Amino acid sequence: MYIRKQRLLTPGPTPLYPPALHAMMASDIHHRTEDFRRVYRSCLADLKEVMATANDVLLFAASGTGAMDASVSNLFSRGDKVIVCCAGKFGERWAEIAKAYGLDANVLIVPYGQVVSPAQVEAALAAEPATKAVFVQASETSTGAAHDIRAMAAAIAKTPAVFIVDAITGLGTMPLDIDGWGLDVVIGGSQKAFMIPPGLAFLSISPKAWKLAETATLPHYYFNLKKEKKSGDAGESSWTPSTALILALAEALRYVKQIGMDKLIRNAQLLAEATRAAVLKLGLELFAPGSPGSSVTAVKAPAGLDSSVIVKEFRSRFGAIIANGQGSMKGQIFRIAHLGYFDFMDLFAVIAGLELILKANGLPVEFGAGVAAAEEIYQKASQQ
Ligand SMILES: *Cc1c(COP(=O)(O)O)cnc(C)c1O
Repeated sequence: MYIRKQRLLTPGPTPLYPPALHAMMASDIHHRTEDFRRVYRSCLADLKEVMATANDVLLFAASGTGAMDASVSNLFSRGDKVIVCCAGKFGERWAEIAKAYGLDANVLIVPYGQVVSPAQVEAALAAEPATKAVFVQASETSTGAAHDIRAMAAAIAKTPAVFIVDAITGLGTMPLDIDGWGLDVVIGGSQKAFMIPPGLAFLSISPKAWKLAETATLPHYYFNLKKEKKSGDAGESSWTPSTALILALAEALRYVKQIGMDKLIRNAQLLAEATRAAVLKLGLELFAPGSPGSSVTAVKAPAGLDSSVIVKEFRSRFGAIIANGQGSMKGQIFRIAHLGYFDFMDLFAVIAGLELILKANGLPVEFGAGVAAAEEIYQKASQQ
């Protein structure tokens, strides 16, 4: 009761991998030295390895949005026709970036909680053969829904358009066969499944996407993909890198490689499955029941209870920070994260906390019912 450990349980920033945090203390290193180049090279090589791609991978000192911005400003020209899949707050961000740079965007909007279907993308491509790119979120963190990236890629690969995937919470939570499916740009961020603090963004870029960079005329300076590629090949970043975060990333990637990317994904999928089972058992509803992703589970607040109350009580009773809904979803949903450095002990605690909070707010909760549902999933998985 009197000790409440602070626990960061949001879908970004996510819980930190302690050895990566400790590695940050060695940041009294200069970035134009062989010692640092060794670390920087290992980050680029390990990112390629865990993303399982032969494409170039580039790193930026920025939050994830920086790499989203870079993928637009480096590959397109004013007035270019593009398709934006918009299923939530991050889809809206793609639309806003496209608008800011003067692209001619056909925004395929679906209600929050739903996803854009591959058939919608195919139809939009057929209607506008001059389309240069399709933008999407692999996992729409604001609603907990996941897009069918593989089927979308199959439709896009038949056209001249490139496929640009914000996989900032998709990487490490769902299979993404970058080379096999033809994902031209795949964007990640440090503070999601990569278990370190915010401040690094990265992307993979295919030869098909590199071709666009040859003719693109949008202005850009700080985020310069060609320059970054040249610097990266020399083991350096174009500008002063976030040295501390690079040291952390190297350590976190060592861990991810040791577990294996497939196991990291399986971990998220199992926790997501257990979360869904637990909240349904408690009589709650999922916000994206049709296509739930594994990075985060969005849960509807029960009738008559604002989700902000649930979020606040997690904080005041248990010191735990969980995510509310974003934008107009605030107060309607709360989100339980499972990407990166989350395990079943975290989840058991979150579900038990949720039971206590619901009960305290007058809901008919049988203590242990949700936890038991999660335990069943754990037990089934551990016997396999
Ligand atoms: C976190 C996140 C981003 C990036 O947001 P930043 O605040 O710039 O790191 C982009 N897309 C998705 C789907 C995200 O979850």
